[in-house]
Amino acid sequence: MHYKRTSNRPLESAHGVPSADPLGKSNGNSGGLAKRITTRVVHLNGNGRTNISLPDGAMNTSEVYSERLPQHPPEHEQTCVKATESLRIMKFGGTSVGDADCIERVVEIIRSSSPESNLVVVVSAMSGVTNKLIEAATRAEAGDRETVAAIFDGLRKQHETAAGLLIHSVEERKQICQQIEEIIQEGEHLCHGTILLRELTARTRDAISSLGERLSSPLVAAALVSRGLAAKSVEATELIVTDSNHGAAEPQMEETRECCEARLRPLLQRGIVPVVTGFLGATAEGVLTTLGRGGSDYSATILGAALEADEVIIWTDVDGVLTSDPRHVSGASTIPEISYLEASELAHFGAKVLHPRALRPVMRSDIPIYIRNTFAPERQGTKITPGGSQDCEGVRALTAMSDVTLITIGGPATVGVRDVLGRTFTTTAAIQADVLLISQSSSQNDISFVVPAAHAKCTVEALRREFAHDLAHKEVDHIAVNPNVAIVTVVGENMRGTPGIVGRACGALGRKYVDLIAIAQGSAACNISFLVARKDMKAALLAAHEEFFAQVLPRSK
Ligand code: ADP
Ligand code: ASP
Ligand code: MG
Repeated sequence: MHYKRTSNRPLESAHGVPSADPLGKSNGNSGGLAKRITTRVVHLNGNGRTNISLPDGAMNTSEVYSERLPQHPPEHEQTCVKATESLRIMKFGGTSVGDADCIERVVEIIRSSSPESNLVVVVSAMSGVTNKLIEAATRAEAGDRETVAAIFDGLRKQHETAAGLLIHSVEERKQICQQIEEIIQEGEHLCHGTILLRELTARTRDAISSLGERLSSPLVAAALVSRGLAAKSVEATELIVTDSNHGAAEPQMEETRECCEARLRPLLQRGIVPVVTGFLGATAEGVLTTLGRGGSDYSATILGAALEADEVIIWTDVDGVLTSDPRHVSGASTIPEISYLEASELAHFGAKVLHPRALRPVMRSDIPIYIRNTFAPERQGTKITPGGSQDCEGVRALTAMSDVTLITIGGPATVGVRDVLGRTFTTTAAIQADVLLISQSSSQNDISFVVPAAHAKCTVEALRREFAHDLAHKEVDHIAVNPNVAIVTVVGENMRGTPGIVGRACGALGRKYVDLIAIAQGSAACNISFLVARKDMKAALLAAHEEFFAQVLPRSK
């Protein structure tokens, strides 16, 4: 079975329709890039046939939109070009594009920003869609045809309803619905293959889970066009070149830069707003990959670094980075400015507002990142800068992670057995388990560490294999697992050199009878993590928040 990713196909070669996209011209003379852009076939199984055929004359809708921009005919192109050279990347998360009303807000934000600077827009899947796609993939592996069919029917309706409300021209609505149908059918075919094989490879999982962004991007582009803005949907398979680590792919920045220059710059020069699919990329061979859950933030900063943007704005459903997750701490307040390091520590320790790797691409170029609220665009949000601000006494924010597991290895017999530590972490490294926190008593009586719950099973299995002989001979007493834990972390660059933070945190938790299982502090002292029982996580967050933030930070405007 072959699945042709039709919406990526260069239009002129696919359907004999001339494209206004200068890419068509650059294709021929840019070596590796041409190969990359024309590699469109995702091989599930190699019999050389295409499963999805387009109706005669059907076109990629987003290409059609770029062809039909009445206010941007080629002879007037210069009028679209901004007076300024400045470039902003604007990423809109799932709730920001959650339904037609939300997309209307997004259109307004883009419309009001577009005279000021050139814009590249990055969109997530509509809220909840990626979860549904992953469920469809998982159910397909289990052979559950009915659930898979129901999920795709629901997704079809959801996107068609939004298109119906957003796109007023009958002709254009028809085209976008046709594009939605093609992508939904692609998902159904991928799930069909999975049902037949009863096997879900990482590659197929990526192909299915990324369909949401491939649905939302043409929808948002079409909404912009139907409100008179020049916009064009672009799939990030054409832009972000990654390694082949499916589910957590890493960008290859040089190649990505080349692709972004060739594909996006010409659009920007013509005053067209590219609307890029977040979350996904492709290997140099053209195989689709994803950047990990929440990865559209990462897409935005990768594009920001690749295009040397002036700023990246992450539009979401909260006012910025808050002193804690507002779902847990109602009194959390917006932090006006925070450093790269603080923001990435927060993200690493569970603050979902930013993807944990999102700051990596911009760190070298010092591009500021803003987190702003799509539903309150008048508020200033949070600015993330290399140095942050000095206006806090130590703790900048708190975060928590509950989907984690504590693994303890040891027992009295391990005292003095020098290689337990080395073998433990060689084992976790070999299976690429993320070790979030380590705590060890000086006698090596017990080594405790925490991994994401998703990595727990394979970590324990690997450790039991590694220590099979030692367990049999009682040299290692036990490998114990506790899934009922949570990590609460305090973060702040100014904690370095501020004595008493651990004492204050422990005191606050103690007053609420929260028992501490372990504590870990990095030598950089930018974060201190407290391991508590999962049932105590909220109480711990509230207690620590009250201790460190009662009346400290003003709410941003
Ligand atoms: P999007 O769909 O826009 O990417 P996410 O759900 O991924 O949005 O991230 C935004 C959510 O992050 C917020 O709704 C909030 O509940 C959560 N969050 C966790 N920690 C923080 C924090 N410190 N500041 C702000 N939001 C946080
Ligand atoms: N849609 C993807 C997810 O839900 C990526 C993102 O929203 O950033 O994980
Ligand atoms: Mg997110």
